[in-house]
Amino acid sequence: MRLLEEIDPGIGNHLYRFASELYPICRSITGDGVRQTLAGIQSRIPLQISEVPTGTQVFDWNVPREWNIRDAYIKDAAGNRVVDFQACNLHVLNYSSPVRKVMSLQEIRPHLFTIPERPEWVPYRTSYYREDWGFCMSHNQMQALTDGNYDVCIDSTLTQDHLTYGECYLVGRSTDEVLISCHICHPSLANNNLSGLTVATALAELLVGRELRYSYRFLFIPGTIGAITWLWRNRENVGRIRHGVVLTGIGNESEFHYKKSRSGNAEIDRAMKQVLHENGRPYELLEFSPYGYDERQYGSPGFNLPVGCLMRSVWGTFPEYHTSADNLDFVKPERLAESLRVCASVVMVLENNRRYRNLNPYCEPQLGKRGLYRSTGGKPIEAEINALLWVLNLSDGSHSLLDIAEQSSLPFEMIHNAAGKLQENGLLSVFYESADQAREAAAGNIAQVTSRR
Ligand SMILES: [Zn+2]
Repeated sequence: MRLLEEIDPGIGNHLYRFASELYPICRSITGDGVRQTLAGIQSRIPLQISEVPTGTQVFDWNVPREWNIRDAYIKDAAGNRVVDFQACNLHVLNYSSPVRKVMSLQEIRPHLFTIPERPEWVPYRTSYYREDWGFCMSHNQMQALTDGNYDVCIDSTLTQDHLTYGECYLVGRSTDEVLISCHICHPSLANNNLSGLTVATALAELLVGRELRYSYRFLFIPGTIGAITWLWRNRENVGRIRHGVVLTGIGNESEFHYKKSRSGNAEIDRAMKQVLHENGRPYELLEFSPYGYDERQYGSPGFNLPVGCLMRSVWGTFPEYHTSADNLDFVKPERLAESLRVCASVVMVLENNRRYRNLNPYCEPQLGKRGLYRSTGGKPIEAEINALLWVLNLSDGSHSLLDIAEQSSLPFEMIHNAAGKLQENGLLSVFYESADQAREAAAGNIAQVTSRR
């Protein structure tokens, strides 16, 4: 399977355009903004949409009411909108209960949110689990308000309806799954939200219709409550998840940060480290912590799933986080494209990482007589020969190709290619370590995969 070679050279611009289309939508943890966003994703990949009724108990939580909003503003005595939801959906405290009242500035003040240190930016605030209403505005905007009465309107509804999420499941040879999860609950914020879901959509598009070793499950869910709801409904089957990653905040200029899964040493953690290392730019690995994105739910002790989180900037550590400055200028097409390439490379590692057995383990086999001492170009290529020697030496059934790549400091793809060449020459065979792999082998699949390069 070739993935990276098939990524459209213009993919960065496609991803950026998709993010721009979704940017104006007012999303929240429930409501039509989520449905509209899922419809956009569904126009690109097969997506099953689930609607879970308000009030459904999901572990220690309840599915909240559905929130929808038509309009919101604060009008001065002359009828001018001094704060206007139509100009920017961040202006309303997300999940605000409805309000329609004439109030003095004094009465309104406790409901206004600003960022005094960044007087031109509008903060993004929510009140999901405590009923409240409010407006977010720039500090400058607030300071310009004069005493007097204002017409305050939040034309929203909180109703007994549904929580909505989307799921794209791609069937592989094994029922073991790779989980890719991203949140879809932030309104007009570009990096936090749209970067993750556009890259996840593009990765699914890339995998659709391919013959895959693993099955792939892409989740497009509201943060926290969406993951909890999905885990509740699928709690019997989560054991199938062998590798997983949460994608978020992967469109800005910052270097990559990968937060490891709870165990810290899962195959996904090592695959991610290998790929980020090979990417050639600085990156940082973070230990697991019970704070962050939905990896917290997947990594709760009852599930303890091997799910990490790929980010660029880390939540809460950069000024644009949860503000109007996390806009379409903050994300870059080439960074979105690079994030997709990293994700596709991780898929390639997971798909190809196996253990092999050296069929000629007593001294080195004579590579020259098999034509393995020369590359196709005719001259000896040291790294390629090293890769052959490393694979031969460590293929004792206990080292995987990822182990060999790590130990040899050679690129995973080179190690994988070396294993393919050795297998073609009868020097190596797949080591079946589980009943699942043996089943795959019985179906002739492993042989096909390794020889069809
Ligand atoms: Zn957030």
